[in-house]
Parts: sequence; structure tokens; C-alpha cells
Amino acid sequence: MADLDVGIVIASHGRHCVVETPDGEQVICHPRGKKSQAVVGDRVRWQASEDEGTIERVETRRNLFYRQDEIRTKSFAANLDHVLILIAAEPEFSEHQLARALIAAEAERIAPIIALNKSDLIGPFERAWARLAPYRRMHHGVLPLSLKASGEVDRASLLKLLAGKTTLVLGPSGAGKSTLINLLVPGALAQTGEISKALNSGKHTTTSTSWYWVDKAGETALIDSPGFQEFGLNHIEPMRLASLMPDIGEHASNCKFYNCTHLHEPGCGVIPQVETATQDGPISATRYRIYGELFAELSQRRFP
Ligand code: GDP
Ligand code: ZN
Repeated sequence: MADLDVGIVIASHGRHCVVETPDGEQVICHPRGKKSQAVVGDRVRWQASEDEGTIERVETRRNLFYRQDEIRTKSFAANLDHVLILIAAEPEFSEHQLARALIAAEAERIAPIIALNKSDLIGPFERAWARLAPYRRMHHGVLPLSLKASGEVDRASLLKLLAGKTTLVLGPSGAGKSTLINLLVPGALAQTGEISKALNSGKHTTTSTSWYWVDKAGETALIDSPGFQEFGLNHIEPMRLASLMPDIGEHASNCKFYNCTHLHEPGCGVIPQVETATQDGPISATRYRIYGELFAELSQRRFP
């Protein structure tokens, strides 16, 4: 077989995707078979066929991110260095969704960054900042932003943090994700429109995952993916969950039973550390409740 070309997948729509070559050319490609089905961020080997291309091979992935709907779990991004979770003072964020996103990142050994936008809305910001206390302790702090009010300052600090990395940007709608992407990649949304057209989807779409170069020479890139709802956690063993919630997992070494679920066992190292109405504790009651909900969810879904 002739030498195959290399490329990065920068957008995908159903079975076909757009591959960018090292010199910046964009080619619509189709997978050869199931095994060469690629997602955004994949490094691929491809071959030209007429005006389009065929993906012959997907290079080994460093990690892979999933989302799930009622029916199935589907991968959507690969080879990430960071996951930037953008929430805001307003609208109020869901702590359950935040926890899911963090677990998904932790499971793939991707460093999460939590950023809290709209610090100019002082009252709501203070309340959101207080809600984030357990996360500020866990993840080397939460980055406060005010993308609209002090964009230039935020731009500089984000560029420093993300330089040379591939970062998946996630967040509930209304938090400021488009503002952030447009700040770091001027014209990004117009670019998405063009790629959608090239993929013959015929309309401007925000339902697919896209790759943007912030600085191609410096290999700094963002991956934008809509939706913050359901992270695919189905592949995670329930017994692994505590280790993916570090504030809970760090007390598990004191449990009497090696297979402790931290839900009801005597001699559990975790349960006494949970804060209650009458007692302070290092584990937030909300985080522990989320742990219990997710444990039940994963126990049910794994063995249908
Ligand atoms: P997306 O839905 O996450 O893409 O959010 P957008 O980027 O469209 O922003 C949602 C709304 O929040 C828009 O009206 C923005 O102008 C506004 N917004 C973005 N950043 C800030 C900020 O730092 N402060 C305030 N007060 N509003 C902001
Ligand atoms: Zn325990």
C-alpha cells in the first residue's frame, strides 16, 4: 500500500468527518470500516479517493471522551490535555452535572480546569463561589473570569494556561462558552459555518463537535462541544467511583472492608467524614449525595 497521509480530525458528522492535513488543507473523509471511525482530536492515516478521502487507520488514542443519551454511549473527542469546564455566576449551575464532567475527566486522566465566569455580577458570583468551596479545595482552585467585562485580562491568563495543549471546552448554555471561544479564536463561529457547509449538512449547526486552532505553530487548540448534560460514565465500574471523586476517595483507605461501598458499611472511613446538620466534615453533604446517586446509576446500568 502507498504511504498514507497524516491528519487531525477537526469536525465530525455522523460517519464522515473533516481531516486537516499538516499544511492546513481540509478533506472530507469516510471511515474504511468500523475500526477506522474517528472522532474530533483523532490523529489519522488517510488516503485520497477522488475529491474525498478514506480513513484507513486511527492512531492509538491517549484518551477518549464519551457522551450518552437514553439509548447509547458515543465517543466524541480524543487526545485531550485539559477539560475546561466553564460555568457562570448566572445561570445557576448544576452541581450534579459539574460532578459528572469532573468524573469523566478524571477517569481518562485528563486535568480538569473549572472556570467561573461573570465575576462582574457580584452577588450571584459570591454565592456561586461559596458553592464551589469543595471544588476549590480539590482542583487547584477555580479560575474566576469576566469574559465580557475584562476580556483582555482573561484572554492573557487563559492563553498562558492553555498554551501547547488541546483543551475540550464544556459548559451549560448561557455560561459564556461562545464568548470564550470567540475571544481566543476570533471568527471561530464563521469557521464552523463553513465546515458545516462543506459537510453538506446544509445548515449552520451547533450540534457537532469542532476543533479550533488558537495557535497552530504553538499547537494550542480548543475543542468546542455543545451540551453539558450527560457524560458517558457507563464504562466506569461503580467500585471505581470513589477514586474518581478525590475528596471522597482520599478517606477510603481507612475503611474496614476492602470492598466497602461507603454507603452503609460499619467501619467505613468515608461516612464519618461527611458533614451533617450537626457536624462539620471535610466531605460536603451534596458531594456525598451525588456519589450515592451515581453509584446507584452505574450499578443499574452496567449489567442491564
Ligand atoms: P454560551 O451559551 O455558553 O455560548 O454563552 P454566550 O457566550 O452566548 O453568553 C451568554 C450570555 O452571557 C451573553 O449574553 C453574554 O453576553 C453574557 N456574558 C458572557 N460573559 C459575561 C461576563 O463576563 N459577564 C456578564 N455579565 N455577562 C457575560
Ligand atoms: Zn467505606
